[in-house]
Amino acid sequence: MTLVLKVDPERPDPEPIARAAAVIRAGGLVAFPTETVYGLGANALDPEAVAGIFRAKDRPAYDPLIVHLLDATVLPDVVSQVPDVALELIARFWPGPLTLVLPRGPQVPTQVTAGGDTVAVRVPSHPVARALLAAAQVPIAAPSANRFGRVSPTCAEHVLADLDGRIDLLLDGGSTQVGVESTVLSLAGSIATILRPGGVSLEALAEALGEVQVAQEIPVEGEVLLSPGTTSKHYAPHAIVVLYRGGREAVLERMRQDAVQRVDHGDTVGLLLVDEDLSAFGALPVRRASLGTVSTMEEVAQQLYAALRTLDQADVSVIMVRDFGPEGLGLAIRDRLTRAAAGRVIVVTEDAA
Ligand code: AMP
Ligand code: MG
Repeated sequence: MTLVLKVDPERPDPEPIARAAAVIRAGGLVAFPTETVYGLGANALDPEAVAGIFRAKDRPAYDPLIVHLLDATVLPDVVSQVPDVALELIARFWPGPLTLVLPRGPQVPTQVTAGGDTVAVRVPSHPVARALLAAAQVPIAAPSANRFGRVSPTCAEHVLADLDGRIDLLLDGGSTQVGVESTVLSLAGSIATILRPGGVSLEALAEALGEVQVAQEIPVEGEVLLSPGTTSKHYAPHAIVVLYRGGREAVLERMRQDAVQRVDHGDTVGLLLVDEDLSAFGALPVRRASLGTVSTMEEVAQQLYAALRTLDQADVSVIMVRDFGPEGLGLAIRDRLTRAAAGRVIVVTEDAA
């Protein structure tokens, strides 16, 4: 049984925090809210505790964990060196959704880094995460609190759906703000490289750094169906996800045509839609889940995972969604949807409409 303790997200009560910290110090597993998604935490310096994270999530040992710290002053406990460029980023973006990949310190068990000589670190801003780190007085390794490959949790109910009975304690602090995971930035090479787009935008990093590159941009050219399976399945609901890229009008028309065809074939179709796109689908008998307004990518990001789960619970066989462009949080949204689609990306050219 997983013990669930409610906690005020702004002013976390000391009692549940103390209990959670005791579980961490005893080598147990605690799920807790961060500003991005819920994390599944264990004492980062205890190899047995860290092994428990991998077991609870069914996470393969080759996928390294992010180590969460109360503040940058404890960096020397987990990294062997802090380059000057990191100091600038830390001053600007911590606490917040930016993870830095730095040289691993000898105290960090290799289970955390998947055997590698770098370690991913971040200082979260969520008051509950901070209170837990302060009370536990150890760095906390915490990947997202979901089964491996599934959609990350943005509220306590999502955590329980995946991990009830597999972890000791869950701090329920309501819904998370950012809604997508942190940006993972490697400072190991000569050019700072975004390994995973996330809560801190490429534009903000470029402004701070001058030069920054994005690893593994998913290539899409012309109207193609990228071979399913070549992109690793991740952030995936049970239903098939199809992502549509291209100009808004042409994309909506193509989505409507495809939805009609699928409904005719007897599929139960789910649409993940911003409010502005609702009218494009008229009275079509499909399930709709709202991503809020397209005018702020912050809102779309915040609602993305909950909306995916809502459609999954409605037992749709296919989820259709459009791309929202690469600006700001749009890049992280594109990354997650492309992975959820596991290669099912349809690029619609204007003249196809
Ligand atoms: P999660 O916390 O579940 O969102 O996953 C952590 C993410 O950080 C994964 O994408 C990892 O591949 C990445 N990560 C963690 N440690 C490292 C590292 N040392 N080098 C590169 N990426 C890392
Ligand atoms: Mg994850």
